[in-house]
Amino acid sequence: MSAGAEMLELRTDYLAGLTLDRAAAAIGGVRALRSPAIPMIVTCRDGREGGVHGYPGALRTAVLQQAVRLGAAFIDLEFENFHEDETKEAILSALAESSYTRLILSAHSFDGPFEDLAALCADVHIACPTAVPKLVYQANHINECFAAFDLLHEEDEDIIVLCMGEAGLISRILANKVGSLVTFVSLDADSATASGQLTIGQYRDLYRADSLGENTELFGVIADPVTHSLSPAIHNGCFGDLEMDRLYLPLWVAGGSNELATFLNNVQSRDWLRFRGFSVTIPHKQHCLDHTRKARGVIEPLAEKIGAANTLIRSGEGRLHAYNTDYAGAMATIRSTLGVTESGLKGVRAALIGAGGVARAVTAGLVEAGALVTIYNRTASKAEALAREFDCRWEELSALTEVEAQLLINCTSLGMSPHVDAMPVPADVLKPGMVVFDTVYNPIETQLLARAKARGCKTIDGLSMFVGQAMAQFKLFTGCEGNAELMRSIVCDYL
Ligand code: NAP
Repeated sequence: MSAGAEMLELRTDYLAGLTLDRAAAAIGGVRALRSPAIPMIVTCRDGREGGVHGYPGALRTAVLQQAVRLGAAFIDLEFENFHEDETKEAILSALAESSYTRLILSAHSFDGPFEDLAALCADVHIACPTAVPKLVYQANHINECFAAFDLLHEEDEDIIVLCMGEAGLISRILANKVGSLVTFVSLDADSATASGQLTIGQYRDLYRADSLGENTELFGVIADPVTHSLSPAIHNGCFGDLEMDRLYLPLWVAGGSNELATFLNNVQSRDWLRFRGFSVTIPHKQHCLDHTRKARGVIEPLAEKIGAANTLIRSGEGRLHAYNTDYAGAMATIRSTLGVTESGLKGVRAALIGAGGVARAVTAGLVEAGALVTIYNRTASKAEALAREFDCRWEELSALTEVEAQLLINCTSLGMSPHVDAMPVPADVLKPGMVVFDTVYNPIETQLLARAKARGCKTIDGLSMFVGQAMAQFKLFTGCEGNAELMRSIVCDYL
């Protein structure tokens, strides 16, 4: 309660050796925790719907009857069991004695969505017009959450609709915004009572639950997987810092271009959800560009040239605008370390190691600014192809020993945790005065950067690039500058 819960659910089916006395003691114990007592939902879940000890129906019904007498705000009974005349009569007669307690009639689908969610809700209303329907189903993909949002959006009566599982996470975070009477969170990760449940700390601190409302604008990172993304922490940190009515979500869009298209169409057809913009990362950067093209959106020329978009904005009328801020983040930090403006990169000799996605974005930015780029890569054919595309030079990796560049950039994963001793170049290549930029940001000071510093080079860490691209996204999302120091410190804390 000290963590900020507004209501507590007492799952009496978790109590070992349950008796009416034990249930009464538990209810009394919870009530005594705070004065005035915190509203309580009392549940004695049937084993067939996720209950823990599989207690008999007669005992479960008696526990709920007793909870009514002891002043629970809600009792939660399975809708399936409400169809049994004896149970129904017992529960309704207990409720008739109380002007306070309300009935929640719950249904669970543990394998996937209900066949017809709206029809099920209507059935609950018909069976007991005063009851609160609680419909909980497993979402096997984020796209299955939208049926829950639709029902919540359309219903005027009190209702609870949630999706279980990792793919259902956004239904839990957004429950209150879209009109669910409650959402369930656990005290800590170990005490979750359903899969995908958030802890109260994540819900309130990371996802800004206390400031969420119907008008909150939504953003998020589209990725597969998304669990380890630091973007929700840094963007929500900055939204909070500027007291903005905005929320940034992890959006686990599993699959490929079809699943991404379905997700974006789901968002586009529900303007009332107020999704405004997205960060886009592996594996959807190219799909995002393809989708924007098909949807007749607007693509920033350099994103087109790079062949990938990492930022998507929905403009007022719902049109998609695709950008790539990866190169912008890198360019901003290179310019500030060299102490030059955009035109100051013209003619700067840059040796770039790698030919993957990050190398592509950095090459595009450098070539656009007029730097003289040479690409080195383990797979020489990829270096050659990238160099041909961006009209710059390439060399075999072995030629790196004789490199004479002002700027040396590692765009490979060499040196990344856990292989922290790996170096993409021999240390004697590093010369005093050279600017050495490592795009790897875990660890923040890589072996390459430590050696470069020791040899008198200026260094740029990958975190600066990460923060730089996030700052550029934040500006596209909000029109305002984010707080780079705050972003950096949040990432450092996580790392
Ligand atoms: P990617 O597309 O998979 O490319 C990986 C590159 O690393 C390729 O050029 C690959 O060479 C090279 N490579 C991998 N293992 C190697 C080895 N043992 N020896 C030599 N070269 C090797 O990955 P990416 O998306 O470009 O990401 C690259 C790194 O950038 C990531 O590991 C990450 O640390 C960093 N990154 C930083 C940021 C940031 O914001 N700072 C953002 C994203 C990524 P081949 O072509 O020969 O396979």
